[in-house]
Amino acid sequence: MWLMSSTSKKSEHRKGFSRITGLSALKSRLAGLILTEDNSCILLTGPSGSGKKKIANLIAQALLCHAPTAEGACENCTSCHYFDQGNHLDFSILAAESGKKTIPTASVRSELSDLVRYPRLGKRRVILIDADELNEQGQNVLLKTLEEPLPHVRLILTSSDQSRLLPTVISRVISLKVDRRKEDEIRQIIREELVDQERSEGDLLTDDDIRFFAKFASGLPGLALELAGGDWFRQLRSDTTAIYLSLDQASELDLFTDCSAFFLEHKEQIDIIFAVLQSLIRDELCLLWRTEAEIINSDLLPQLKTVIERKQQNLARCAEQAAKDQGLVRWKEEEDSEWSRAERELQDRLATAAGLVEESREALARNVNFELTITRLLLHLKFLAAGDEIIESRKND
Ligand SMILES: [Zn+2]
Repeated sequence: MWLMSSTSKKSEHRKGFSRITGLSALKSRLAGLILTEDNSCILLTGPSGSGKKKIANLIAQALLCHAPTAEGACENCTSCHYFDQGNHLDFSILAAESGKKTIPTASVRSELSDLVRYPRLGKRRVILIDADELNEQGQNVLLKTLEEPLPHVRLILTSSDQSRLLPTVISRVISLKVDRRKEDEIRQIIREELVDQERSEGDLLTDDDIRFFAKFASGLPGLALELAGGDWFRQLRSDTTAIYLSLDQASELDLFTDCSAFFLEHKEQIDIIFAVLQSLIRDELCLLWRTEAEIINSDLLPQLKTVIERKQQNLARCAEQAAKDQGLVRWKEEEDSEWSRAERELQDRLATAAGLVEESREALARNVNFELTITRLLLHLKFLAAGDEIIESRKND
């Protein structure tokens, strides 16, 4: 899990907000904010993995620093020293206990009421709150603190879903967006955080690995670092890929036993598995569209090409069979159009497949039964890949 660890080695040449790669608009907002008094509550919103917590820590350090500039903390003073050590007396973090999704309201109340105590090292106390983990009661407690701000208190909230927050809370905060980064920025972040600091487990990351993770993470540095930093993802991706690419040849029994078991075993990582599936489907579409340079899983190019070809053959074969059954002109004999028809059909099916993965992700987020959702998804993906029932819906084309 990638968090700004205050004890992590830091690159020598950058300090304060310049540690944030990219996000120039956000950095200039921060430069305009940090030296004013008008910063009693800052809310950072952005998708999970966008780097909100790292930025929240940099803001906290700057608000506590004894000699801050528009570029953030000085990283030299006593306050910065304690912050780096992770034991600053005037800094606290309010988040749910590990394994829990919500901060108990009693904890919110006691942490926030504790803020009335004066700071011990400087002129401010700063609290960082994971607002995703506040329920409505917790937010109402927070609201009281926001309505009667104490001059020495600064709050920094992070949220991946601003719509969950009460409008009354939002109206009292300075809201800043943490956008997705560009691909070259993600590559730079992986190099700085993992390669230069030799922090990844197992094999060293090659340039191809870095390129893959930067593409796969689609602008989210936290996700890129989490996946690139450990070996577990390589295995998960390889197993997911093996299942997906052989779905058209799998028997229904395989789907109900081995494949389902794999998904069940990795239930905790299901969103990552869905992301792998989406990346493979997207790559198949790239191959159909002859935009190979855009491919995410470029190390799998030969396998992907084989599968695309096989799926087109599956489609052509099924179409031909169906045409024969209906006494129509054989599909294969249509001049010059057979592959473009197969390609067009495959494109539609891949788009459907991508939609099904997204639907399944949403269903699980709504707590729909896991096994039912996964079995249904696998069956549909198999049918789409194997070419079944192609003509029924399309004989009037
Ligand atoms: Zn400082």
